[in-house]
Amino acid sequence: MFESLGNKLQDILERLQREKTLTDAQVKAAMREIRMALLEADVNFGVAKEFVARVSEKAVGQEVLGSLDAGQMVVKLVHDELIQTLGGESKQPTLKHEGNVVFMVGLQGAGKTTSTGKLAKFYKEKGRRVLLVAADTQRPAAREQLRTLGQQVGVPVLEVANGETPQQTKQRLQEALQKDFRDLVIVDTAGRLQIDEALMDQLADLQRELQPTETLLVVDAMTGQEALSVAKTFDERVHLSGLIITKMDGDARGGAALSARFVTGKPIYFAGTSEKLTGLEPFYPDRVAGRILGMGDVLGLIERAQQADLQNMETKKAEDFDLEDLLTQLRQIRKMGPLGDLIKLIPGMSRALPEGFSIDEKQIQKIDSMISSMTLKERRNPKILNASRRKRIAAGAGTQVSEINKLVKMHEQMKDMMKMLQRMSGGKGMGALGA
Ligand code: GDP
Repeated sequence: MFESLGNKLQDILERLQREKTLTDAQVKAAMREIRMALLEADVNFGVAKEFVARVSEKAVGQEVLGSLDAGQMVVKLVHDELIQTLGGESKQPTLKHEGNVVFMVGLQGAGKTTSTGKLAKFYKEKGRRVLLVAADTQRPAAREQLRTLGQQVGVPVLEVANGETPQQTKQRLQEALQKDFRDLVIVDTAGRLQIDEALMDQLADLQRELQPTETLLVVDAMTGQEALSVAKTFDERVHLSGLIITKMDGDARGGAALSARFVTGKPIYFAGTSEKLTGLEPFYPDRVAGRILGMGDVLGLIERAQQADLQNMETKKAEDFDLEDLLTQLRQIRKMGPLGDLIKLIPGMSRALPEGFSIDEKQIQKIDSMISSMTLKERRNPKILNASRRKRIAAGAGTQVSEINKLVKMHEQMKDMMKMLQRMSGGKGMGALGA
């Protein structure tokens, strides 16, 4: 997401930065282009207009024109304004010590049930005792989906019965909580393909009974501006406290995410970034702005590394770096997410890579299976890999001996490279390489 918008904005800003000083006309022309780029990304008209007006006003007010680093200053103004448009400071649902009830609402297909499972995982990992409630009284399949997610995350799921009234649900919930204390209840409500009055009434009734502390709307980034008119309707009936925008990993143009705060007045709490349970991230306007402008997201990268629990790779000397170490590192890095996505978090990278760039995950899988077919002794000491061993390993990994030869050679080259880099950095181990 944001790829096309990001590229356009970066182009415009790069041109400005190349100029020594800027004239009024140049800034005006750039602002017109920025406005076009925003509109093409499906950003709400009012948002685009205000965005450009604010940047222009500041550019004039701060006497950017004629100053030596005028281009730089405009980049900063655009960056700051992007952050503001996305919501400024990052906001999260307010959770009390106990008695938290989070209400999840949204249209069918938006990703509501998936996001409910992701939230359960997110908060469980933060030490919360979570109970999920599958509150769709009409669709058993929806309840079953949540039951499966509950099992995967390892949290209990209370399922409402067909045709159960909100009063009955409340009663059963209270009973369940008396038996098994939980400090966070997340309620997955019914969804429909379109807004309908009956659904809204039903949600409002259940909301009145359960008195949620937060009501979160799940919207699909792919539906663009439509998502925001849906949000307004939901807000009128069930007063939203915040939004979760899903499918940010897709190729949506980004307009919904960029306009959400302005159009709905609600903060984006979380972004859905994959179909998997791990694909939920707190939404940080400053990091997203950085990604759009190709400035990277170093903090995001570090966080993913921490989540993946990257072990200390610092102490290994190049000559001791064996195939077992290579395998461990490959697996740890893969835990951080798709490699193509990770690379784009590195500042400047998204710009430096050719369009449509991707890393062949299959190749990495292949290396993994080749090393996995070796005995520990072989991994620790690749020198013993004679012809018959290579043949056995190739058969085990379902590949050719020539591939094993390539792997052994690649490992040798890696060691040479590491040795050289370690010499250059004064022999401080791999940490000095930024590994
Ligand atoms: P619900 O009807 O709103 O409960 O929607 P579901 O939770 O069943 O999700 C609908 C579809 O969207 C499923 O195929 C999900 O796997 C998918 N989905 C949900 N969130 C995301 C996301 O953040 N990224 C991607 N790529 N797919 C998602």
